[in-house]
Amino acid sequence: MTKYVYDFHEGNKDMKDLLGGKGANLAEMTNMGLPVPPGFTITTEACIAYLRRGEFPEGLMEEVEEHLARLEERMGRRLGDPEDPLLVSVRSGAKFSMPGMMDTVLNLGLNDASVEGLARQSGGDLRFARDAYRRFIQMFGKIVMGVPGEAFEEALERAKEAKFPGAQDTDLDAEDLARLIEEFRRIYREHVGSDFPFDPREQLRLAIEAVFKSWNGKRARDYRRQNKISDDLGTAVNVVAMVFGNRGDDSGTGVAFTRDPATGEKVPYGDYLPNAQGEDVVAGIRNTLPLAELERLDPTSYRELLRVMDTLERHYRDMCDIEFTIEKGKLWILQTRVGKRTAFAEWIMAYDMLEEGLIDEDTALLRVDANRLEELFKRRVRADGATPIAKGLNASPGAATGRVVFSADDAEAWAARGERVILVRRETTPDDYHGMIVSQGILTSAGGTNSHAAVVARGEGIPAVCGADAVKIDLASRSFNANGTVVREGDVITIDGFTGNVYVGELPLEESVLERAREGDEAARSEKIWRAFERLMAHADRVRRLRVRANADTPEQAANARERGAEGIGLARTEHMFLGPERVAAVRRMIFAETPAEEQAAYDELLPLQREDFVGIFRAMTGLPVTVRLLDPPLHEFLPNLEELAVAVAVAEVRGDAEVEVRGERMSLDEARRLLAKVRELHEANPMLGLRGVRLGIVKPGLYAMQVRAICEAAAQVKREGLDPRVEIMIPLVATRAELEQMRAELEPVAREVLEREGVELEHLEWGTMIEVPRAAVTAGEIAEVADFFSFGTNDLTQMGFGFSRDDIGKFVGMYEERRLVPANPFVTIDRAGVGRLMRIAVEEGRAANPRLHLGICGEHGGDPASVAFCHEIGLDYVSCSPFRIETARLAAGQAALGAAESATK
Ligand code: PEP
Ligand code: MG
Repeated sequence: MTKYVYDFHEGNKDMKDLLGGKGANLAEMTNMGLPVPPGFTITTEACIAYLRRGEFPEGLMEEVEEHLARLEERMGRRLGDPEDPLLVSVRSGAKFSMPGMMDTVLNLGLNDASVEGLARQSGGDLRFARDAYRRFIQMFGKIVMGVPGEAFEEALERAKEAKFPGAQDTDLDAEDLARLIEEFRRIYREHVGSDFPFDPREQLRLAIEAVFKSWNGKRARDYRRQNKISDDLGTAVNVVAMVFGNRGDDSGTGVAFTRDPATGEKVPYGDYLPNAQGEDVVAGIRNTLPLAELERLDPTSYRELLRVMDTLERHYRDMCDIEFTIEKGKLWILQTRVGKRTAFAEWIMAYDMLEEGLIDEDTALLRVDANRLEELFKRRVRADGATPIAKGLNASPGAATGRVVFSADDAEAWAARGERVILVRRETTPDDYHGMIVSQGILTSAGGTNSHAAVVARGEGIPAVCGADAVKIDLASRSFNANGTVVREGDVITIDGFTGNVYVGELPLEESVLERAREGDEAARSEKIWRAFERLMAHADRVRRLRVRANADTPEQAANARERGAEGIGLARTEHMFLGPERVAAVRRMIFAETPAEEQAAYDELLPLQREDFVGIFRAMTGLPVTVRLLDPPLHEFLPNLEELAVAVAVAEVRGDAEVEVRGERMSLDEARRLLAKVRELHEANPMLGLRGVRLGIVKPGLYAMQVRAICEAAAQVKREGLDPRVEIMIPLVATRAELEQMRAELEPVAREVLEREGVELEHLEWGTMIEVPRAAVTAGEIAEVADFFSFGTNDLTQMGFGFSRDDIGKFVGMYEERRLVPANPFVTIDRAGVGRLMRIAVEEGRAANPRLHLGICGEHGGDPASVAFCHEIGLDYVSCSPFRIETARLAAGQAALGAAESATK
């Protein structure tokens, strides 16, 4: 029979699939001999079985009973015993930490009878016992039974106000709490429709069921979608003996990190809240103390905590975060995990741990997230003496400016209209997640560096300032007042997640240290983050097999890409070279040409202009390959828009104007009419599937010949300058071997003739094609016989593979992702099963037919880490991406190589 329940002694940290992250780490710490309260974990398999059948799997509750009995025996107390009760907490814990799920129910096992027993256990402290009881009803009602949290919170507020103005919850005495308990039970009955359950076993069963169900809650599903976590994992449930942080001033609770999660520095970091339970820290109800204060309050526990932190860090060889409770001077560790950190801290920690000898270079490289590297090049606020209107905690780094909105729904709606917004809230809850992730920044007036807002913002790379208590929000008037400055919905503010400052208006933002260092700034280069970046990138470059090239169309882009480490150009799109007034005129003459002579005259005009473009690029990329793609887009893209032109002509005709203006271009009515006729003639119902790519080359042979001439003349000139141009000429949109064969037959003699005339030989002149239509992929073996190289155009290959229009996908791709109809947006991350399969076929059959064939990718996917890993896997030679993603691609390629090495040895 399946085993569904594991005692903490029975698990370890590698059992996250079954025990969830929390359960696996509790087990690990138990076996390390750390002070963990005893307990057991119900497996994710039990959850999956429950969700499948809608009822507990057979034998589950019997197993829970057995483990509970053992727990009772160990603790010498029984759950719900009116004399001397055992209380437990029930906590969810999936494989990956998921703030969207049910969190924690504390003090389970309390009822009208056992609350008296709890009071006796704590030396007759009735106030403490009743406070624990009211918290339990509140949490159980809200989290397990779905009673709106405000109902309880408002009752608590009323009780405090009734006590005296400004009373804290600690000011309520045992009598006040007895009344509050009655009130809470009434609220419970009103919302749930039945009495609060007194039977502790019933409480436990309902709590376990609620955790299971929370896996499929909306917030959890949203979170999984955003973070690409599978829906099939299920969550585990941890049942743990209670320890209390609210037993007086020698008790408390906190969250600690073994290193600073914002800066990465090796200093203990965290929050501590004396005389409180864990949820008080996360909810930001009371303002926490910095962890260092604990040293003053309770030096023995502080030293013990540091010792535990050190043990954990050495054991996990990584930064850990810890939830702990001190109960009457005794330290308990309630949770640990490898801690989340900012993109910045990630690099600092990996570098420091490498220097400390805690980890090796490969591990250090795998510790940093290629998807977040771009963040490090993010801006900061340049305050230049501007006075902040408020200051909060620097909860998540980065700078943001945007318009103020006060709800997650508004954030979502405004962002959908293209507004940049800053979400301003007292605090956030998982219900706000959808609005948080579309905001430029987040500002909260309550809560600490571990509040929900801070944790989510750091995880998502959104700048955030939290706990800015000078910000007084008035939802009724949709405004906030900060030290006398009133800011209304829609007003622009700037927040600085590095300092915690909040400013009115839009402040200038400043480049990041890495960006400055990259540009050669010496001071920036002496900072640790740059040393970390250089060292790990050097290692990535050492281990990676994939080369990294850039998609670049101009000499400036080429130079920028080379500086960032590009090893060539994988795609120079030549269509941009046909723009600009002088060129468009010549292109139009080519389109309108009625005789070969007229057409040739237009090419003669374009040729020197094209040549100059290529000269600059070849110079910038000397010694490295440059793939030039011959013209790809349909010709009508160089003509005015059909509708605009038709309207302009019609209006001029009605008004009797002699001239027409379209998008700033003036022409005579006659000319406009001729142009309109041509635009109509060239109009296509499906231009993406129309006269473009190689088809243009076939229909207008002079066009590609002119481009080849310009390329070869430019290469000859650069070669004569003593440089080393390496030319790869690429024909787009090829679907058949015959197309490429014919093009080469026409164009190679043109190249030869130019080079002979110029008296120059090119060591590297190759002819190849893009693989971007499915037919080319599945007939790659034939095409490879006439190609020196393939470059996967995965934008078009995805478009034609799925039949998804690249231009219109925005309308439904979100829904597709939400409903899991695709694993990810296929235009961002390669669809391995479909488009990826086409690529695999092309690689295998292409190489089999032509062993010297070299292969790359130049679609947008070339800069996406997951797609880079795929390209590594299928054995491409290089990836090509936009210049600003070169570092990301180099890093991802290094990591892919290590990942591959790892799985090969498993
Ligand atoms: C592609 O289709 O992937 C590609 C790189 O070409 P373009 O985006 O210019 O169509
Ligand atoms: Mg394409």
